[in-house]
Amino acid sequence: MHILSYSIQHNDLAGKHVTLLGLGKFGGGVATVRFLAEKGARVTVIDAKPAEALQESLRKLEKCSDVTFQLGDQSSELPVTELLVVNPAIPPEHALLQYAAQQQIPVTSEIELFWQLNPGRVIGVTGSNGKSTTTAMIHSILKAAGRRCWLGGNIGISLLPELEKIQSEDWVVLELSSFQLEALNRIQASPQIAVVTNFSPNHLDWHETLPHYRQAKQAIMRWQTETDVAVLNQDDPELQFWSTPGRVLYFGTQADRLPDLFFDEECFQIKDQRTVPFPRLKVPGIHNRYNAAAAMTACLAAGIAAQDLTQGIESFNGLPHRLEYVGEYQHRWFYNDSLATTPESAICALEAFPQSAVILLAGGSNKQVDLSGFISQLRCQTKATALMGQTGKLMYDLMQAHQDSVLKQDHALISQPQASFEDAFNWAFQQSAPGDVILLSPGCASYDWFSSFVERGERFKALFQELSESNEAD
Ligand code: ADP
Repeated sequence: MHILSYSIQHNDLAGKHVTLLGLGKFGGGVATVRFLAEKGARVTVIDAKPAEALQESLRKLEKCSDVTFQLGDQSSELPVTELLVVNPAIPPEHALLQYAAQQQIPVTSEIELFWQLNPGRVIGVTGSNGKSTTTAMIHSILKAAGRRCWLGGNIGISLLPELEKIQSEDWVVLELSSFQLEALNRIQASPQIAVVTNFSPNHLDWHETLPHYRQAKQAIMRWQTETDVAVLNQDDPELQFWSTPGRVLYFGTQADRLPDLFFDEECFQIKDQRTVPFPRLKVPGIHNRYNAAAAMTACLAAGIAAQDLTQGIESFNGLPHRLEYVGEYQHRWFYNDSLATTPESAICALEAFPQSAVILLAGGSNKQVDLSGFISQLRCQTKATALMGQTGKLMYDLMQAHQDSVLKQDHALISQPQASFEDAFNWAFQQSAPGDVILLSPGCASYDWFSSFVERGERFKALFQELSESNEAD
């Protein structure tokens, strides 16, 4: 299948029949429709989901005239279309993409449109893990160092609406997914600074998709020029062999391999400079030290002086609702990991605090998964757990049913099912001692007590705020 790419020219969208495939719920589709409509295109939006599932996006488009919607649409032919814009979630084998290829209808995407019109310099970040965190860390360093910079891409922010404001000296920091990199590969584009955090495709069928996945990721450096820079993880067995037409800067923990930025548990050292203390991170876990090292190396490549790297890293609280640092109160450290909606992700969060006693808030709505393994983990890996919501009740009943066997290996305190989120929060605080971590990482969805994980996380942060202010009032 050969996809015809598209190069946007001044004003050539006016009057054009443009179809957007996949409106989605995460903002990119909405920003694209607005952009196309503002440029005078006649837009048709196709989405397989019905209107009810897309309500929020549709509400944001109420003011856009000249937009036609074909929702709940499963057809395999496009309406009259001179340009097809695809959402990142659309798989390459989608019938309408194939149809566009057959009919020689040019295809583009939000990231390509942005790329072709963006006057700024780009730092692009990809990898198997840690993309969003590293992207946000780079942005935080640049901002703290007083540079004009923008954050966007796959992190969930479209920069199409900001195009008019971006200047040529600005840094645009983009998280780039494999899909977006494939799209950029079609227009032969790579960022001036390309960061690859790691490459560990554990979840892939090694033989079938690995070469394809690798090729897609390597597109981040494929079209670089000799003045461009690739920032690579030297400890990663695969990345040390990746190459760029530009210059490579390595970060890593093996001093004998002379990385451009060396780091260990306490310090870091930029090549040929003196060793200095590693910034104090608020985001936990060794993986975040790697993300910070990647971000600092990228910022060095962007011309930030060594002494200006620390401030933005130390003030970085993490991404909202993903092991986000909320604050400290009476020597208890509060973290919001509301996004953890499966037991596995909650266990991962617990493992990020190997040195601390953790009081966990766990439980939520019932997705019918087996929670017995989760309960045993909670008993071993927490100091205490406040049980919440539907599954809190279920877990409590399960424990009662197996009381004998469970109690024998009992380490942690597990609460009775709490009547409300506030009760769970207060119970957790009561169990805590100075030095403990109080962590919201429910391991379950939020739909019993909240409309979304965002609302749950915001409520946790608000309760922390109330608690810390109550102290000020005393
Ligand atoms: P991505 O954008 O690549 O999905 P995120 O920065 O959103 O990554 O982090 C998602 C989760 O991936 C984190 O909660 C953590 O468990 C894990 N993670 C983050 N950074 C790394 C890393 N450098 N190496 C391994 N795992 C990581």
